[in-house]
Amino acid sequence: MESQFTEEARIAWSSISSQQQHLLHDLKCPHCKSQTHITPTEGLVDNGYLLLNGPCQSCGTNITRVLNWPSS
Ligand SMILES: [Zn+2]
Repeated sequence: MESQFTEEARIAWSSISSQQQHLLHDLKCPHCKSQTHITPTEGLVDNGYLLLNGPCQSCGTNITRVLNWPSS
């Protein structure tokens, strides 16, 4: 699957590479309610947030992870 990150999101995400695993684990899927993690397939920076989209490992529903950006 090809990931689609905006240039800004790509830079933001790569700058916190040491935290990536941590940030994407222990998410709760709103659809199947399981603890899951995502591999982001889309990323963008919008109005102070870094938004990452990826499918739930259990049911495939798209989950959005919202991070403050820039982080301070
Ligand atoms: Zn799910």
